[in-house]
Amino acid sequence: MNELRNRIDKDLIREAKELLNTSEQISIIPHAGPDGDAIGSSLALYQYLLKKGKQCKIISPSAYPIFLNWLPLNSEVMVYSKDKTNAEVYLNKSDLIFMMDHNSFKRSGDLEGYLGKCDTIKIMIDHHPEPEAKVDLMFSDTVMCSTCELLFEFVEALGDSALIDEKMAECIYTGIVTDTGGLSYNSSQPRTYQIVGALLARGIDKSKIHSNVYDNFSVDRMKLLGHCLDQGLDVLTAYQTAIIKLTKEDLKRFNYKDGDTEGFVNYPLSIEGICVAVIFIEKEDMVKISFRSKGNVPINWLAREYFNGGGHMNAAGGRTNKNLETAISKFKEVLPEFYKSLNL
Ligand code: 5GP
Ligand code: MN
Repeated sequence: MNELRNRIDKDLIREAKELLNTSEQISIIPHAGPDGDAIGSSLALYQYLLKKGKQCKIISPSAYPIFLNWLPLNSEVMVYSKDKTNAEVYLNKSDLIFMMDHNSFKRSGDLEGYLGKCDTIKIMIDHHPEPEAKVDLMFSDTVMCSTCELLFEFVEALGDSALIDEKMAECIYTGIVTDTGGLSYNSSQPRTYQIVGALLARGIDKSKIHSNVYDNFSVDRMKLLGHCLDQGLDVLTAYQTAIIKLTKEDLKRFNYKDGDTEGFVNYPLSIEGICVAVIFIEKEDMVKISFRSKGNVPINWLAREYFNGGGHMNAAGGRTNKNLETAISKFKEVLPEFYKSLNL
């Protein structure tokens, strides 16, 4: 199985080691609206850096879903949008910044301007295609199922896998399962399972993590899902596509909380013959769109081209300042051409 190892460039890791040796205060930044992978990889890196004797903070551009609040050391995450002054004081004194699970400052939310301007040394650890942020050192690999998987390789390549304890392993495992739908998609590399094996060997309770991540619906959230699949669903059979629409009123009616719609977009993919699923969610100041696809359908292209977004081939996101109906009309307008180009 040795050919599956050493997925990290030796020269890059040497440079990372030097940067880590000469840094004292480090900031870790996940993407805005962080998911399990962004927060999991940030928390695991945080614990690693503390073990290496560094001063360190995670500065999340925005708040994140309650279903991740059980993660070890979660309470130490600083949320930039809630505490800008202290976060900037910390950032200004940092001599190194890690950018986790995103590769464009546009995904750094309210920190976009700061990161774009500051000349602090930056290391990116990410698994999305087409990195565009200017950083000093880039660990970017789309073969990895998650940034957490890449982080495991990073720590191992630094010669420190012995420092990965149960708490770090919980964070890394959470990122792996949340980015692969519980190891169902984008997770066919044997190496992923070697890593999962190594995490299990650290004593993590896999069932507890799955239960924390997935069995946590409030009654309102469950009813919101029911509403989406009943009233909100529009199946475009001719294009093997299904759309879910959620209005501001729907969210209010079901007492929407951050993260409540997480994963809803995946449900229509369980309809026989459907290979594209999209959810349009009307927020206060914009419409947030999530795209999912099956197989060789590059849905990130559509997200990038028409909805100011991007992502992976089978999971992408975007947004628009246009209203909900206009956004859906735009999608329906471009869908036939996109569908034709697929040769399904
Ligand atoms: P979600 O639909 O869960 O918000 O995002 C799914 C994936 O799409 C994320 O992992 C990320 O790769 C990508 N994504 C979501 N929103 C955006 C966005 O606004 N811009 C870009 N470039 N990618 C996004
Ligand atoms: Mn990720």
